[in-house]
Amino acid sequence: MKVRRRLRAIATRLRRAYGEPPAPRHLPPIDELVLTILSQNTSDVNRDRAYADLRRAYPTWATVADAPARSVARAIRRGGLAFTKAPRLRAALRSLRDAGVSLDHPRALADMPDPALWDLLLGLPGVGPKTAACVLLFSLDRPHFPVDTHVHRVAMRLGLVPERAMAVQAQAALQEAIAPADVYALHMGLIRHGREVCVARRPFCSQCVLADLCPRVGVSSPR
Ligand code: SF4
Repeated sequence: MKVRRRLRAIATRLRRAYGEPPAPRHLPPIDELVLTILSQNTSDVNRDRAYADLRRAYPTWATVADAPARSVARAIRRGGLAFTKAPRLRAALRSLRDAGVSLDHPRALADMPDPALWDLLLGLPGVGPKTAACVLLFSLDRPHFPVDTHVHRVAMRLGLVPERAMAVQAQAALQEAIAPADVYALHMGLIRHGREVCVARRPFCSQCVLADLCPRVGVSSPR
């Protein structure tokens, strides 16, 4: 409960600093899954370019599932790591189809209850807890907390998770602790904070709205 209150205080501070986060994308779940796979190790801009290129090249997700991996890789090359992501995308889509999911139905997956949907997503090749949580949160407004590299770093510095916790462990611990109503705003706020202030190399602690809540102040060579 103590951690939950602290997380709420952090969410409130970040909201005041950065304003209300933009509304979730609310793409259909399979679209969100594809977008999230494309987002791995690239910027949002390049992810969006790759997604738009893929949609232009293939009329349906079923055609992506059936296309040669090399052709899919060509379509998504602007997103980077195309030869890793293309087979991953195809495998995830094929696996969904094998599980009886209609790939091009806009409501596919949307009516599945938790935790069945969580288990289905995690069972897809190349899909981990972060990707599964993105689908549930951004597409379906379900309070699952994705931990990406920024959230992971900031959460560790703030002492919200143990210093050596892997992202997967951090996600499980934070998921347990955060009030459902705070999940979206806190996720968005921590990402923005990690990109702009609590950056990887030398964080701007002197400009940080969370400085008085952070055990790293005075320890981390703050600017
Ligand atoms: S005080 Fe520094 S290390 Fe702590 S959250 Fe802020 S920027 Fe990050």
